[in-house]
Amino acid sequence: MGTGRSLKSSELIPPFDYLTRATDSSGNVRVLAARTTRMVEECRERHKIYPTVTAAVGRILTAAALMGACLKGEETLTLRIFGDGPVGGIIADANAKGEVRGYAKNPHVHVPLNSWEKLDVSGIIGNQGSLCVTYDLDMEKPYTGCTPIISGEIAKDLVYYFYTSEQIPAIVSLGVLVGWDGVIAAGGILLQLLPGAEKSLIPKLEKNAAELSDVSHLIQEGETPEGLVERALGGLEFKILGKQRVHFKCRCSKEKLKEILMALGKKEIQDILIKQGKVEAACPFCSHKYLLYQKDLEALLSGIT
Ligand SMILES: [Zn+2]
Repeated sequence: MGTGRSLKSSELIPPFDYLTRATDSSGNVRVLAARTTRMVEECRERHKIYPTVTAAVGRILTAAALMGACLKGEETLTLRIFGDGPVGGIIADANAKGEVRGYAKNPHVHVPLNSWEKLDVSGIIGNQGSLCVTYDLDMEKPYTGCTPIISGEIAKDLVYYFYTSEQIPAIVSLGVLVGWDGVIAAGGILLQLLPGAEKSLIPKLEKNAAELSDVSHLIQEGETPEGLVERALGGLEFKILGKQRVHFKCRCSKEKLKEILMALGKKEIQDILIKQGKVEAACPFCSHKYLLYQKDLEALLSGIT
């Protein structure tokens, strides 16, 4: 937790988040590194999320942002973790444009600090359950891969997922530093060995990764995504492939709510009109509230034959 300084943490953090894509010059390793402080803070603020849940949601959002950087065009991915802990599940989705959104099923749960005096992320997620990734790659139907939760700390669970479900050796580091008045720093790194890569690189990369385990503190001290890439590759030559903004952005709209209602059918809408006269619905991803009044519902009904 923070020290309760008089300056708000949001005044100390850089103005925007971004992600850097890089590869080592021999083409063995792909590295993605991101600063996600504002993105995670916006999610916390929208859903009024408690600190430990913020740390967990922030790690999932950051992971989704990093994985989203591997998508193209209109492709999207959804990352879900469902454990037996009190948070009851966390969902995030991301696209190739760096737009990320997400939420926790129970944002207002709290557990004591763990034995290292840190926010107990695995304590709220649980250690039984699954981590699933759904890729919607503009093909006929989305593809989902799931693996069991092995630690509940998320980064290790993702490494296990990549290795087991996608056969990709990976190193993942995710961190969120939460203060009294919000998120102080957040970010992450994802390293993936590319096909045909020399496996002998792994011990060296793991050694570098161990020094990156506290990624949120590095970001708090002003480290950039490029700096994280350099640390992660520790001495290997690399080239930066691109840089991209990442931010919290939902894709919901009043029109989408109308489509959902239309799909329910004429009778359901008539029932709502008679019993309630209006529909009030909040988007689970961003908490935005939509209201449809009698005239909106009547207009919908007239559009259903
Ligand atoms: Zn929304």
